[in-house]
Amino acid sequence: MSQATRIYFYSVLMAVSIVMVFFTIQTVFIEKIFHAQKVIVPLSLGCVLGLLVGSVQVLRARLAERNRLFSALADFALEFTYFRKISGEYEYVSPACKQLTGYEQAVFYQQPNFMNHLIHPHDMKLWGGHIHNINGEGIPETIEFRILTRDGQIRWIQHLCSTVQDEKGVTIGVRSTNVDITQRKTYEQQIEFSAKYDHLTALPNRRWLMTALDERILRAGEGNENFAVMFLDLDRFKYINDTFGHAVGDVLLRQIAERFRRLDEVDELFVSRFGGDEFVIVESLREGADPIHTASRFLLLLDQPFSVNDHDFSVTGSVGIAIFPQDGETPEDLLKNADAAMYKAKREGKNNIQLYSADLAQAMSDFYHLEHLLKLAVEKDEFVLHYQPQVDLTSGSVVCVEALLRWNSRENGMIPPLQFIPVAEETGLIRAIGELVFRKACAQWRVWSDQGIRLKMAVNVSPIQFRDDNFIRQLERLLEETHMPPSELEIEITEGVLMGDIDKVLNKLKRLREMGVSIAIDDFGTGYSSLEYLKQLPISSLKIDASFVREIQSSQRDLAIVMTIEALGRNLQMLTVAEGIEEEAQYTLLKGIGCALGQGYFISRPLPAEALTSLLRDGFSLKAVA
Ligand code: C2E
Ligand code: MG
Ligand code: MG
Repeated sequence: MSQATRIYFYSVLMAVSIVMVFFTIQTVFIEKIFHAQKVIVPLSLGCVLGLLVGSVQVLRARLAERNRLFSALADFALEFTYFRKISGEYEYVSPACKQLTGYEQAVFYQQPNFMNHLIHPHDMKLWGGHIHNINGEGIPETIEFRILTRDGQIRWIQHLCSTVQDEKGVTIGVRSTNVDITQRKTYEQQIEFSAKYDHLTALPNRRWLMTALDERILRAGEGNENFAVMFLDLDRFKYINDTFGHAVGDVLLRQIAERFRRLDEVDELFVSRFGGDEFVIVESLREGADPIHTASRFLLLLDQPFSVNDHDFSVTGSVGIAIFPQDGETPEDLLKNADAAMYKAKREGKNNIQLYSADLAQAMSDFYHLEHLLKLAVEKDEFVLHYQPQVDLTSGSVVCVEALLRWNSRENGMIPPLQFIPVAEETGLIRAIGELVFRKACAQWRVWSDQGIRLKMAVNVSPIQFRDDNFIRQLERLLEETHMPPSELEIEITEGVLMGDIDKVLNKLKRLREMGVSIAIDDFGTGYSSLEYLKQLPISSLKIDASFVREIQSSQRDLAIVMTIEALGRNLQMLTVAEGIEEEAQYTLLKGIGCALGQGYFISRPLPAEALTSLLRDGFSLKAVA
């Protein structure tokens, strides 16, 4: 027997029993006579009453059962569920509200529309629109927003909501389920972060930059303002990385990014890390915007030294600027041209700002063409050396020859070194070319030596070549291969070599001197001459630059400079060599001042080895070649 049937049965039995008791009392104790109709009517009445009471009992039992089932589901679900009447009062709030919001169920029951108080201020608009939609059109919705929990935490919620209607279709309230999606959102944000931001500096990364540029170009097409792309590269950052390690370099980059971010926040500039030590800044060119001024503000941010692991670092940067649309209509072109302008800024002495221009474009294209040709020239070895004698000014005899490089290009004929050495230095090709020069010069020394012509060989060395860690090893090998005594070799370095890590330079120079190689400072007086360094460095001779010799007869100042350099050399036990002697009068004057050696067209132009060989073999006479 089911529970409902049992309830029915007991209810009818109870009703009939009650009615029968009344009947018995009435007939036996009051009327003392038995009437049949008085039995049938109460009996029927009892049955009907029994049936009614039974039905009500069954319905109540079923409702209680349903409530129990509903509670079993809703109360124990992890989702926070509620039913809110149109008036705003909560009819049902599941206990999970506590875990999600920190508030007890009672708080919801006491305060109509309590959910409104929990919404994060940034999501208020979204919530307002949602509420309106639900109450108006009645379309079910799922939205995601943030709430502030009772203890002030931010939680992300997925909120599923739909209206509830009565049997006539009238809306009586809304039911809603709220799920905690904070963890999923955190993952999503992390994924979005690594897709858009640079992990080291937390600045927008290159990918975001490209998207931002695409968007700006699109907007500019709709009549919005133009913009500037600034390519900022830190000067000599590679040196910091190489010397102090990448960990220090990384901390420094983070500190730099932190300073750059200050301007990003204030001026709504887009500041991104392009890669390595390169940053790209995009600025909208509204009324009054001045990209050069903006770029200089970024460089100014670098002015104060940085401190990493108790080391102070002075950092400078070079900036190239390209403007949309005149300097490029695609992100790639704008970046390429801003980069080209940045290279020009570096060449102009670093810590500098340059705007892209058509001339620059031409110069860049010439540069790349020359680089390409130079690479081929190295492969095919299109280089030759000419040799210019240096004479003892007193005796007039040749004591040394300087090897001077020429590029014998099949396309363009003989090209002088100043036209291609800067490109070779910038592209690093100077290392390979420099090695070729040493190889050829040492080989030529061997040829002359075998012919009984004894001369010192002077070779020019570029600062880039000198800084190479392999420089000394390479030189030792070459000297060994050609059986050339190191004392027969002189290297000419410019004052530019002395810049940078002076201890490293000093060690290298000392090592060369120990080997027996002599060292001359070329073009002395035109660069960065520190008397302090001069005192420490193991220098054998100072080559007085031709610019002081040119007008030595007419300019008192030049004469004074040459005399001072000669005195300096003499006191420091260094030889002085006058360069660019073109006239006999200059020769005589320099000899009179006391310069030891001289070199110049008056003595001999630089010549190919064969031409100089016959001159040297015939006995060198100044008059014969002048
Ligand atoms: P430098 O080492 O100072 O060489 C002297 C330059 O002056 C040479 O120019 C030479 O031809 C020129 N010269 C010599 N006497 C006179 C004169 O009386 N009057 C005038 N007006 N000029 C004279 P060049 O050969 O064109 O070389 C230019 C520069 O290129 C050199 O200056 C040197 O700095 C560089 N260079 C030459 N060969 C090499 C090389 O093999 N490696 C490197 N790294 N640089 C080199
Ligand atoms: Mg030289
Ligand atoms: Mg020189």
